[in-house]
Amino acid sequence: MSFLPWWQRYPERLQWEISELQALGVVCRVDEEKRTENQTVVMELSVPGVLTGTAELNMTAVFPDYYPLVPPKVFAADLEMPHHLNPFSKEVCLLGTPSEEWGTNGSLAQLLRDQLPEAIRAGLSDDHEGAEWNEKPQAEPYGAYYTTYASAAMVLVDGSWSIPEDAVHGPIEIRLAGPLPGPDVTAARTLGGVVAVGSDTGQTYATLDNQLQELLEGQLVHGRWSRLTSAVNVDDARAIWDAGQKADSSGSTREESYQGCRIQVRAVLFPEETGPRKVSDGWAFVLKVRGAQQQNNKNKNRRGGAPRPVSVSGGADQYHLLRTGRAGRSDIRARVPEHLPLATKKVAIIGAGAIGSAVAVHLGRAGVGHLFVIDADVLEPGNLVRHSASFDGVGLLKAAAVARLVRSVAPYTQVVFNPAYVGGSRPQGEPDPLRQISEELRSYHLLIDASADRGTQRILATIAREIGIPYLSLEATNGAWGGMVAYIGQDSSWCHSCLEWFRFDKTIPDPANSPVAYTQPVGCAQPTFTGASFDLEEVSLQAVRTAATQLSAGDGSAATPGFDVAVMELRNEAGERTLPTWNGYNLTRHAECTAHP
Ligand SMILES: [Zn+2]
Repeated sequence: MSFLPWWQRYPERLQWEISELQALGVVCRVDEEKRTENQTVVMELSVPGVLTGTAELNMTAVFPDYYPLVPPKVFAADLEMPHHLNPFSKEVCLLGTPSEEWGTNGSLAQLLRDQLPEAIRAGLSDDHEGAEWNEKPQAEPYGAYYTTYASAAMVLVDGSWSIPEDAVHGPIEIRLAGPLPGPDVTAARTLGGVVAVGSDTGQTYATLDNQLQELLEGQLVHGRWSRLTSAVNVDDARAIWDAGQKADSSGSTREESYQGCRIQVRAVLFPEETGPRKVSDGWAFVLKVRGAQQQNNKNKNRRGGAPRPVSVSGGADQYHLLRTGRAGRSDIRARVPEHLPLATKKVAIIGAGAIGSAVAVHLGRAGVGHLFVIDADVLEPGNLVRHSASFDGVGLLKAAAVARLVRSVAPYTQVVFNPAYVGGSRPQGEPDPLRQISEELRSYHLLIDASADRGTQRILATIAREIGIPYLSLEATNGAWGGMVAYIGQDSSWCHSCLEWFRFDKTIPDPANSPVAYTQPVGCAQPTFTGASFDLEEVSLQAVRTAATQLSAGDGSAATPGFDVAVMELRNEAGERTLPTWNGYNLTRHAECTAHP
């Protein structure tokens, strides 16, 4: 791609845009100064009343660098509308999803003719129904329009909170960690979480879920919150602070020491569109940092020790607007509504290796309420090539590394782990770890066997059958050329031994297997199979799909259970890569199987 300005890449295009506008009765003037200096086409437009549906309107169109691959933007500085208009930039929202609704042969004139009248009609409408005109219902949360947020700084709230409407101000407690916001956008983050929203009479209206609070670190900071009748219409932290203070008749914030500075915190609560046709509480947080001078004086008086960090703002107080993050259970799970039933389910995973770790992470993300991870191995650096854990898990038990990982990606999934070695011969005199684990598993909804070991599979399938819980096993072949996922339900007519018979008689074909020998990395006690994480993950993903479907079944939201056994091929007979192919099999009891009671 050559980086000529678009009007040189498409020499006719600008003139065409101008003639189209003129044909529509729009008076337009290209700002030649901006075209020369900024290499941007900016047009001043005078749009007649027949298009705006009201009076003649002065507008500005800005053609982006990559026009016409993406549409021009239109601004109306004189317009006031509650919807479809950015209150600060004054950009008029003409297309619901610009990159989908814009075609590269479109023109600004077309946009104005086809979209503008309806956008203004809907934008001026008082009620939310009238304000809808794009096919996709969409909320316009006011907080999303602020641009002066401190970088890499956020305060977590729960979107499901409802603060009583007659409550107007009170104390707020925020657990805050990280450096004070500064100009360095790559700096460590500042993360806060609202631990308590209270009243001046000692009531607590809202608090973040304990599960989430466990992930928060740092210092408890005491501030004030106040309710505003509408969002602050100035994009500025100081203005929001002042509005909050004005609305807080009975309280003032107090300074606290944080990171060697004196800080205060204020939160404001205002009505905000948080869903289509839905208005609820929006939050904005302002962190005030007292100017540096007093800090410097204190430093001079200190004797010995490391110098205190000082802010470098000069004498003026700083105000930082902190982004609001919605981190409640329903906020996080809203993206996977199909699998809400998983929130009450308990799943045990035996084997926290490459396939087991991926299964655990995806189940956590899908919203499984409780995971039990069992594995005796330690995470080696070399495991990272296909284990889901990251470097900060190296040296931990794999089960612990996976537990930590799941907690960090799925804050509302409880994770416990056990370093039991399952499937081998136990040391003399040691109790059988499986005996105790089996007792615990009785309350579980699924046992996932990611041991990838035939002997262990026999043991675990037998235990699952005896205690009456479903069993799901997954395995990949050497080289990750193929894999298999098998699901044996509680009421299944066939058993794991039947599956072995079906594999033996080739009713179920063995998935492709790399002829390359196992590899034994230096220092490892046992050879390990070869194979890349992106191939292995295909097996894990299918296992998770099966688990999520089965666990959601019966709660009215699941699809059909699918197949008992699924076999995947990633290579053809010549060993060349193919698209992943899955074949499903439904089984009944094998005639030769003697394992049934
Ligand atoms: Zn059987």
